[in-house]
Amino acid sequence: MPASSIQSYFTSSPSKNNDGFTAEEVQSALLPARNTWTPTLIYEEGDLGSLEPGPRHLMLMGRIVNFYDSAKPSKSHRAAQGCLRIMLADDTGVLTVRLWYANIQYKVRQGQLVTLWTVHISNSSDHNSLAPSAASLFTSIFPEGERNCHFMVHENSDDGTQFRRPFNCRDSKALPGLMTLKSFTNGGYDIEEPKLLVCVKSIGARKRYLNRNGTTSELISLGIFDDTADASLTLYGAVCDSATSFLPSKTVLLISSPGWRIDKIARLSLNGNSRVDIDPDLGDARRLRALALRLTKKEHVNPPFPDAVDVSGFETAAVRALYTLADVDDFARSNPTEKCIGYLSVVMTEFNIVTPFKRNMLMSNECCGIPIFANSISAMCKQCDKAIPLRINPRILGPIIDETGQISSGKLIFSNDAWEQLLGRTAEQLLATEVDKLRYLEQRLLFLRVTMGFALSLEDGIGRLAVWCVKN
Ligand SMILES: [Zn+2]
Repeated sequence: MPASSIQSYFTSSPSKNNDGFTAEEVQSALLPARNTWTPTLIYEEGDLGSLEPGPRHLMLMGRIVNFYDSAKPSKSHRAAQGCLRIMLADDTGVLTVRLWYANIQYKVRQGQLVTLWTVHISNSSDHNSLAPSAASLFTSIFPEGERNCHFMVHENSDDGTQFRRPFNCRDSKALPGLMTLKSFTNGGYDIEEPKLLVCVKSIGARKRYLNRNGTTSELISLGIFDDTADASLTLYGAVCDSATSFLPSKTVLLISSPGWRIDKIARLSLNGNSRVDIDPDLGDARRLRALALRLTKKEHVNPPFPDAVDVSGFETAAVRALYTLADVDDFARSNPTEKCIGYLSVVMTEFNIVTPFKRNMLMSNECCGIPIFANSISAMCKQCDKAIPLRINPRILGPIIDETGQISSGKLIFSNDAWEQLLGRTAEQLLATEVDKLRYLEQRLLFLRVTMGFALSLEDGIGRLAVWCVKN
């Protein structure tokens, strides 16, 4: 039974100021008209991608992909006290919104869906720098001072489906400038508008730091990764709040034109031209999320050969396709629901039989979620006392390569037949082999070019290759 405490009998009440009003009550008294704005003009709905400079009554929607708060305190009571410079994006384009404020504190976050009503679109030029070059069209609004302008954040009316396909992207076409973290780190930062698709790995603690002018600001550092490298993304100031909606291993960010510093890893930040699209609806984003989930899930040390793989008749078929590793990668990306059977011609770059043999780890399996290793074809599960059949430890085979790619150690799932064909002996015979002969076998197989019959069926967009035969 859970221990009850005095706190469980009292729900916490909002903290009151000295005058007896809560912060929200003060706020709502100061801003009576905020939620009751009704347009008095007729506004046209427009796509951000088709805007042109000039006066026009427009109702525009989009998601916040970057913003920056510059406070410009003024002594005049009616004057604006600051400006939020927001980069707003829909599926077709971007617009800079210069949102001036006096008493209202707009609580904006990255990724929020907003609607705004404005009466003018302007074009920024190099000498006024009112908007960054990445979103040079802008609109300047001061809703507290102009009754024909309004700005609304969709708090409860965002079902998360709108404006999720940035840059007009389609799954069939590669997004221009999209690269891996590794290519970015190795010089890709030099191209115009580089884009990175990353998954959030960790969210650091908020830290305060001292500015040159003596004021303090906040920063938060996120660990991010893709399938090639790790990196960090640091958020500063008001943007820090955006990290509260991020989930490690789930949230995918499409980061365009980040600020960067290359240490051991790439250290990214956001500048005026950067933008961040959260959980974009892209095939690559779904694959990255699936990869992240796989990484957090503990992997089976020796997954069984999939039952679904049926290659009967394939060996005698008239057409037997030879793939490269790049072909398989292409196929998996473009046909995520289809199966693929064929052959690969690969070189084995590493073989480790003697070491696992000496460590009593030549065979493996899992039971009750616990890995079991032994030099025998069956072993007892310590949890459920059942005899568990063991299969050859896939880690004995190191990375395999061909002219186009590599598959790292332990990622292939061999059938028993395929192991026998590769090693020239059954699992029992392997276990009965003397160490000298194992060492000889190891050396004989190293750098050997072999043909592997493989089958691929994808679950979650990422599958493993099942190897059903090995030939010289
Ligand atoms: Zn068990």
